Amino acid sequence: MSHDYDVIIIGGGMVGGCLGLALSQSSLRVAIVESREFTEKQSDSAGKRAIALSWGSRRILEQLNIWRPVNDAAMAIKHIHVSDKGHFGKTRLSAASQNVDALGYVIEAVKIQAVVTNSLKQSNIDSLCPASLVDYVVHDDSADVTISLNGKEKTLSCKLLVGADGGLSKVRECGAFELKEYSYDQHAIAGLISVESDVHDVAYERFTSEGPIAMLPHFDGLYSLVWIMPSELAQDVMALPENEFLERLQSRFGQWLGQLGLSGKCQTFPLNLSHVPNNTAERVVLIGNAAHQLHPVAGQGFNLGLRDAAILADALLSNQNDMATVLETYANRRQLDQALITGFTDNVIKLFSTDSALFSVVRNSGLLMLDKIPLMKNQFARQTMGLGSRLARLTAS
Ligand SMILES: Cc1cc2nc3c(=O)[nH]c(=O)nc-3n(C[C@H](O)[C@H](O)[C@H](O)COP(=O)(O)OP(=O)(O)OC[C@H]3O[C@@H](n4cnc5c(N)ncnc54)[C@H](O)[C@@H]3O)c2cc1C
Repeated sequence: MSHDYDVIIIGGGMVGGCLGLALSQSSLRVAIVESREFTEKQSDSAGKRAIALSWGSRRILEQLNIWRPVNDAAMAIKHIHVSDKGHFGKTRLSAASQNVDALGYVIEAVKIQAVVTNSLKQSNIDSLCPASLVDYVVHDDSADVTISLNGKEKTLSCKLLVGADGGLSKVRECGAFELKEYSYDQHAIAGLISVESDVHDVAYERFTSEGPIAMLPHFDGLYSLVWIMPSELAQDVMALPENEFLERLQSRFGQWLGQLGLSGKCQTFPLNLSHVPNNTAERVVLIGNAAHQLHPVAGQGFNLGLRDAAILADALLSNQNDMATVLETYANRRQLDQALITGFTDNVIKLFSTDSALFSVVRNSGLLMLDKIPLMKNQFARQTMGLGSRLARLTAS
């Protein structure tokens, strides 16, 4: 039977877009269905959130031929400094001791999206935008996908349907995938911070009894703040006058970067953990936030989604005509990494968002051990850099 496409990707965000780019290097016929024009995403302030890219993600973006423009808009992290407010434990990781140029890179989400969107325009991928998924039906030999394009419904057939449509995935909903959800009842306050210090290559992760604070190096001498706390408290903190807001932040973060100032308005994001235990079904697969939405404390959501895209592309390029094998290979190769990162992030939040004396001893001895035992430190660094799991061909060469 002939199909309109080999692969239809619903969602042209950072993850779906990167999958499209990976497949553009093949003879597969691919379409990306995206509901929002890039200009609309550009004007959305959520796009300003800082994304910490791991060293492993850099390797994937190099293989997609987009690392150079991404790097031009990114800041390199040479050191990571992890500490716990009011306690003795701390650990430092450095790029030099891991024999890499950088432990990771920081870039605004909208800047990655811009590079991906521009690169897709020059590829052989069909971009259907603005268009949204309405529904789909799976048959033995195809999936029939109904979309709304320019206000009109249209049905397209494909061999494989990919849901890369984010945390509120319609592909997931229409396919009745089981979703496990947990709300942390926390919000992240994100914004840009001016600092007194002239150190601009260190990423700080500071744990406090209210929740963790991440400060990531940004352009123009600024730092990008992700400050996590209980939802109710976040509302109160956002309502504080600027000087009180800064006083509070300074007292929680400490003097690692000297005097802190605000550069622009901060925003809040609700924090949940959701994941789909089995993210493949006949002729359908979920990747990125559609399959797992993580707490941003460990900066892993996009990095994990990018590895989903790389490994799915790998499986598709090896088995272009056999979607059952593609899905089986993908499920086998992604299960461990997804479970490890989801569990790692969840455990870090539970361990570091409490003031219990017992947890405090455990986390401080943990940080001390990390600092003193090179093997543990290397393992932690590899996990943070996104190198902990088996690599896809896209990342390995
Ligand atoms: C404050 C904060 C900080 C973060 N920091 C980091 C970090 O440091 N490092 C990191 O790795 N991750 C981080 N993340 C997570 C990261 O932002 C996400 O994991 C990533 O954006 C997920 O990408 P995605 O493409 O899967 O989903 P999305 O970015 O949500 O993209 C989904 C796309 O699908 C489209 N779409 C939705 N529904 C439909 C439909 N029905 N039809 C057609 N199109 C549709 C949407 O318009 C969108 O373009 C952070 C998140 C937050 C909130």
